Amino acid sequence: MSGLDEKLRDVHEEVLRRNPGESEFHQAVYEVLDCLGPVVAKHPQYADAAVIRRLCEPERQIIFRVPWIDDDGQVQINRGFRIEFNSALGPYKGGLRFHPTVYQGIVKFLGFEQIFKNALTGLPIGGGKGGSDFDPKGRSEGEVMRFCQAFMTELYRHIGEYTDVPAGDTGVGGREIGYLFGQYKRITNRYESGVLTGKGLGWGGSQVRTEATGYGTAYFTEEILRSKGESFDGKRVVVSGSGNVAIYAVEKVHELGGTVVACSDSSGRVHDDKGIDLDLLKEVKLTRRGRLTEYAERRDGARYDEAGNVWEVPCDIALPCATQNELNGHDAAVLVRNGCEIVAEGANMPCTPEAVRLFAEAGVVFAPGKAANAGGVATSALEMQQNASRDSWTFEHTEERLAHIMRGIHDRCLETAEEYGTPGNYAMGANIAGFTQVADAMLALGVI
Ligand code: GLU
Repeated sequence: MSGLDEKLRDVHEEVLRRNPGESEFHQAVYEVLDCLGPVVAKHPQYADAAVIRRLCEPERQIIFRVPWIDDDGQVQINRGFRIEFNSALGPYKGGLRFHPTVYQGIVKFLGFEQIFKNALTGLPIGGGKGGSDFDPKGRSEGEVMRFCQAFMTELYRHIGEYTDVPAGDTGVGGREIGYLFGQYKRITNRYESGVLTGKGLGWGGSQVRTEATGYGTAYFTEEILRSKGESFDGKRVVVSGSGNVAIYAVEKVHELGGTVVACSDSSGRVHDDKGIDLDLLKEVKLTRRGRLTEYAERRDGARYDEAGNVWEVPCDIALPCATQNELNGHDAAVLVRNGCEIVAEGANMPCTPEAVRLFAEAGVVFAPGKAANAGGVATSALEMQQNASRDSWTFEHTEERLAHIMRGIHDRCLETAEEYGTPGNYAMGANIAGFTQVADAMLALGVI
């Protein structure tokens, strides 16, 4: 399958052999290796010190049993994961995902992406990820709390302010971080704010952390537009998903002058040509934890299509903010046919390799998640800074820092793409810039 450079092909084959059946991990590794040809040609020292081979093998992988008791008094067993992938730049940093699809291959792909994403922020954070196959859907408040407590009862011994700092991801938001933090504090007898990010504002959390991933994706997209001499004004935008990332992407796109005309959930899409009503969306999804059908029922002119494909709604800009591999070659062809000009990933790896190839062929600007959705983890690093100095910043100050970081990532991607002979290719720029930053630190730290 591989058009990879020979040295990189060997690395890729080793990854396939060592991690059988973990297709998402294979895909994430391939996407990075595919960009590194010109780097290994220019810098033989990376291959000599086996930096790339070491990068593909997590520093530590923890898998554990999570036993808990449901509301009917039945014992439930879930599986917990924490992949501590790379700590050359700082403590392992990355979210926890609670979703029934979670297995080692998903956690590894996310952890691998996180290494480069975190490097791109320019902040001192390594890469890691974790989670569980626990399905929060339909679980009571008490069940979610007991599950989080059981999960932390094992995880606590592996994490710490200077070791590994988890946060949220799909299925893990402020509520879950609260229960996790409470249990960590109880077991360790330490109020160690810096051990988790995404905390509530009253107990060590940072302003803007909740909004940061979606806001960051919108800021990144604004920079792409600016580099083309354009702005969000008059642009029609489609956002997939309706979770935390999607909601705050909609909010910031609207603030920046664009109009989001569609979003989706796992059963279908809502098309609202006047522009999504953000207050209603927040009430349905955040306050009531409801379904999008309810949004369409309550909003004049909006239509919910069961099993409808969100990418069929014509747009200038597409922001996939739901989950991995949600946008395939067919969807990409539809977007291209409808005149879409920019695709920026708010989720992690939402576009399949075929979709990415079609975008490149059609001249659609493609911004990979490790650059475009780095705002979440960047703001987590800002939360760590505030915790370390026992300080808390205003919303305005924190948001200005976030916007500045996103502009910096954007410019670094473009400059690196240019330097390596692929101007305008954000995937090349992001992978190479992220890689060289981690690789140089690994060289400096020796073979460890
Ligand atoms: N889960 C988020 C991501 O994919 C945030 C991780 C964090 O804040 O540590 O980057």
